[in-house]
Amino acid sequence: MSPRPVDLVIIGASFAGLLCAKAAALRGLRTVIVEAKEEPGARIHTTGILVKEAADEVDTPAQFSRAIHGVRLYAPSLRHIDLASRDYYFLTTDTAGLIRWFADEARHAGAEIVCGRRFETARRVEGGFELPQFNLTARYVVGADGARSTVAKLFGLGRNERFLTGLEIEYDSLPKADPDLLHCFLDTRLARGYLAWVAPAPGFFQVGLATNDKVKPDLKAFLSHTERLFGFSQASVKERRSGLIPCGGPVSPFAAPGVLLIGDAAGHVSPLTGGGIRLAFRFGRRAGQLIADHLLRHGPPPEAVLARELPSFTKKLALRGVMDAGPPNWLYDLVIGTPPMRWFAKKVYFHHRNPPALQEGPQPGAED
Ligand SMILES: Cc1cc2nc3c(=O)[nH]c(=O)nc-3n(C[C@H](O)[C@H](O)[C@H](O)COP(=O)(O)OP(=O)(O)OC[C@H]3O[C@@H](n4cnc5c(N)ncnc54)[C@H](O)[C@@H]3O)c2cc1C
Repeated sequence: MSPRPVDLVIIGASFAGLLCAKAAALRGLRTVIVEAKEEPGARIHTTGILVKEAADEVDTPAQFSRAIHGVRLYAPSLRHIDLASRDYYFLTTDTAGLIRWFADEARHAGAEIVCGRRFETARRVEGGFELPQFNLTARYVVGADGARSTVAKLFGLGRNERFLTGLEIEYDSLPKADPDLLHCFLDTRLARGYLAWVAPAPGFFQVGLATNDKVKPDLKAFLSHTERLFGFSQASVKERRSGLIPCGGPVSPFAAPGVLLIGDAAGHVSPLTGGGIRLAFRFGRRAGQLIADHLLRHGPPPEAVLARELPSFTKKLALRGVMDAGPPNWLYDLVIGTPPMRWFAKKVYFHHRNPPALQEGPQPGAED
């Protein structure tokens, strides 16, 4: 049987791939997504918190999320400050449910999703590519296949080289945790290069940490360090997960004729915060629009437009260097309650806005 011709094949049915597929299919491209897992949203590897900018960028059903307005930031000694914003929030999510919803949206737009099959190879043919495993030809291929992209490897594109490693446990409930706050822990011994966190999600709690390659992540040590605050030993574990977070900035090159990387595959992750969902939304969707315009409406090459729109991450890469070096724990303990630290933390958490605090000075329970 001769291969079926389609316009666009996207590898990876997560945030970037599904948003790309929906936009491309709505604009009229015959679009197929290939996903290695048994279904979109299976065995997720992320905490899945959406910053407000991501929630503003893409509308999602309220049933999959919970708005959190405040952050409790702890020093290694467990002294803490509370940061809050009236007009800024994070959405913690039922990430699996949300990804399944995005998959339904992509299908409704006309995209086809092939699950349970890992993409391994494609070859260039006249007018595009042949994907023999799927008996398809495509005019365009998008790699939305995550931190260790097969598409990048196959087509000789840039690959992520610097990572944080994240470990996470989901608990059914943590009665001792304040459910209205995102709890974040600075600790170079336990979470060198990043943070540890306790996040109240819709109907459950996520507890995790990430470290750079200088330290092996040890979630057990964090659980015992904070046991008296949260009572983990009394709680029942729902799920465990781990994953890599690219933190070296955008890969280069991110495209070749007819091939484009998006999301984690392209290194579209904030090197400072490790957040990638907002950029997966923005540039996943944008890639779908641009590829459709290019193939159907004489639009410019998508990579030329994206190259102009992508952030450079210069400042965040510099701050990544500081985080990687690992400020000593005594320094975090010293500065935690100071105005410069509070100012800096607000900048990072509330994204360069200057939000009015819910209350001036320390919040109840905070040791400022
Ligand atoms: C522990 C952890 C916590 C995080 N927390 C947050 C957070 O709270 N907020 C935030 O914004 N970001 C967070 N991130 C980062 C965020 O998860 C990623 O930036 C985001 O998931 C990127 O989406 P994506 O669609 O590019 O790739 P992914 O979500 O990695 O999806 C890639 C998809 O491609 C599929 N795939 C891979 N290879 C193949 C193949 N060969 N064939 C077929 N399919 C394939 C995979 O199965 C997967 O479904 C976290 C990351 C980790 C590891």
